[in-house]
Amino acid sequence: MPANVSRILRAMRLADDLALVRDGQRMADRLFEVHARELIKKLKEAMSSVLDVPVAALEIGRWSCPTSPTGYCWYNLEKDHDRDDCLYCHEPAERK
Ligand SMILES: [Zn+2]
Repeated sequence: MPANVSRILRAMRLADDLALVRDGQRMADRLFEVHARELIKKLKEAMSSVLDVPVAALEIGRWSCPTSPTGYCWYNLEKDHDRDDCLYCHEPAERK
């Protein structure tokens, strides 16, 4: 087999391997997304009963919160549409 053909075959095998790895990464990303969504749903349900706020109105903030039991800010979008008042630390979601 000419050297060029074997190099091409090797490149094709490597390309196949790369495609498999990328497919695996995409699958892992999807599983991660689904699992994260389920955890957020369960966390919101748990916090809904702690805070007595409907699940649909609860939002988890991105900031760490010193007084929240979860370590993150929580907002009641039913009463605080602009996320100006964390239910624990009373800080807004928008900070500079
Ligand atoms: Zn907070």
